[in-house]
Amino acid sequence: MSSTPSIPSPIAPEKEGLFLDNGSRVAVIGGGPAGSLFTYFLFEMAERIGMELAVDIYEPRDFTKTGPIGCNMCGGIVSESLVQLLATEGINLPSSVVQRGIDSYVLHMDVGTVRIEPTHREKRIAAVHRGAGPRGLIASRWHSFDAHLLNLAKERGAQVLPERVEGIDRDGGRPRITTKKGTSPGYDLLVGAVGVNTGALKLFEEMGAGYRAPGTTKTYICELFLGEKTIKTYLGNAMHMFLLNLPRLEFAALIPKGDYVTMVMLGTGIDKSLVEAFFATPEVLKCFPPDWSPPADFCRCAPAINISAAAKPFADRLVLIGDSGVSRLYKDGIGGAYRTAKAAARTAVFEGVAEADFRKGYLPVCRALSTDNGIGKIVFGITGLIQKTTVLRKGLLRMTAAEQESRQWQPRMSDVLWDTFTGSAPYGDVFRRSLHPVFLGRLLYETAMGMLPARREGGKKEDKVPFGKMGELGKIYNSGEIIVRQGDVGECMYFIQSGKVEVIRESDGKEVKLAELGHGEFFGEMALFEKGVRSATVRPLGEVRVLSVDKRLFLRKIHEDPALAFRIMQKMSRRIRDLDKELGNLRSE
Ligand SMILES: Cc1cc2nc3c(=O)[nH]c(=O)nc-3n(C[C@H](O)[C@H](O)[C@H](O)COP(=O)(O)OP(=O)(O)OC[C@H]3O[C@@H](n4cnc5c(N)ncnc54)[C@H](O)[C@@H]3O)c2cc1C
Repeated sequence: MSSTPSIPSPIAPEKEGLFLDNGSRVAVIGGGPAGSLFTYFLFEMAERIGMELAVDIYEPRDFTKTGPIGCNMCGGIVSESLVQLLATEGINLPSSVVQRGIDSYVLHMDVGTVRIEPTHREKRIAAVHRGAGPRGLIASRWHSFDAHLLNLAKERGAQVLPERVEGIDRDGGRPRITTKKGTSPGYDLLVGAVGVNTGALKLFEEMGAGYRAPGTTKTYICELFLGEKTIKTYLGNAMHMFLLNLPRLEFAALIPKGDYVTMVMLGTGIDKSLVEAFFATPEVLKCFPPDWSPPADFCRCAPAINISAAAKPFADRLVLIGDSGVSRLYKDGIGGAYRTAKAAARTAVFEGVAEADFRKGYLPVCRALSTDNGIGKIVFGITGLIQKTTVLRKGLLRMTAAEQESRQWQPRMSDVLWDTFTGSAPYGDVFRRSLHPVFLGRLLYETAMGMLPARREGGKKEDKVPFGKMGELGKIYNSGEIIVRQGDVGECMYFIQSGKVEVIRESDGKEVKLAELGHGEFFGEMALFEKGVRSATVRPLGEVRVLSVDKRLFLRKIHEDPALAFRIMQKMSRRIRDLDKELGNLRSE
């Protein structure tokens, strides 16, 4: 009998690592955006490779309750890029969650006001409440954003335990969790998604794996009741940003929701006197009715915000995501939670859960966010300089107003401001564009001209562009209109938010109906992958609301996260299969 030499299996070295497998148990501490999105993606990716997991989410907050007990304290803006990315991930925010679709930004300065409108004339920014609403609210027409995401995680199969985690230790290398109810058995992976407004970060530091919590600073948020009608008159569907020369104030914003306006202040050492000084400025007062004054009591808080990344947010069987790891500086924190959550889930499913796996698969995403935040600090440094220099404020106002009025030349300043405020582009991209010679030349020219009396003020108080209803994202089309025309060059794809469309192929003057598509489905995706023209015409069947996703954003993101294309490619492959079947049927007839 000849003995065959033993050939090492190519996957043998990997097997020495730590992996999730069928039946593995995962604990997620924190059911905010990071925890819920992590769970959503973990289940989705595990399903792709046929792996069944059990996930426990520990979350003591009840997001269906009003006031602090149900709220994760935030401005509640879901950024333009995140709304588009979530749509491509199959998460379309319903109008029961979106209190207001934001269609423009109004920049208020002591030298004037200017409204910045995107060229796409579509609502792609959502204003939401993280919980059920402010303290004192009796009945609300809207649901919590965080509850919506947590429900998606539950629908995927997660178990939500309404318990606060009080202790973490390891049992033979596997992390265990202690709550008031007792200690859990060991988990195969522990995910920290506890944000930065919690003592739980200490528990992770005390695990001795090298984790250090992120740097933070205090902010101020309050919720002011104005009523839907007053908000429509004075604020419209615009986010109002304030660049005022008030010491210690970085920037402030008024965010219109359904019946409430959320006021957010970011800066250093924000206290009662700074809040009062802000309320007393003419720029803020003109956003409210003349007889209005802040009520004696309203829902307010002073949460911490993440300003620097955590040290070593991973170890064997442990990863920290969202604010507990790294966020985006002063904007789009929920977008940061999405990116870190997805990167951690991808690493855990496809690479492993050892420290080395997270270093390879997760750390680069944290580093990219951190590097961009470094550039963000420079951007905010420049903003601070503008805030303090009247001629620069005038120059910025004049340049933006001129672009918004004429629309003849490329709106360089408007785009830079839009992307800075909305969080639609990385700070690095914004910074690069602000160094363009044409940008600098025009700013210099307008600054010089600003020495003359102000000639342009673009601020409008009413809701100037009434596309779509208040809490609806996207754009409405009606029968008789064409959303996509066969033969046109396409620069975006579309996700149907409500209603139905028909897809028509025109050939030799005849129309062939290829398909009818409804809620949650998409079309126009071929434009994202190739340079050619639209292959079909798409028309609404009655009123339809669609959200567009830019080719530029999609392609940029796909380089960071190729998995983003998976859902679209899966659908395209199904469509090809259906067409094949139909062709087969036609041949056999
Ligand atoms: C003033 C201000 C305004 C902001 N505005 C915006 C904005 O408009 N848009 C935007 O995108 N971002 C904004 N952010 C940032 C945004 O709030 C965060 O980036 C985002 O909430 C991070 O999500 P997360 O899931 O990591 O953490 P969190 O949202 O903080 O969620 C953490 C969860 O962990 C739970 N938890 C904590 N401790 C424990 C424990 N011991 N046991 C179990 N569970 C626990 C908490 O109950 C909570 O639900 C703002 C932040 C501040 C401070």
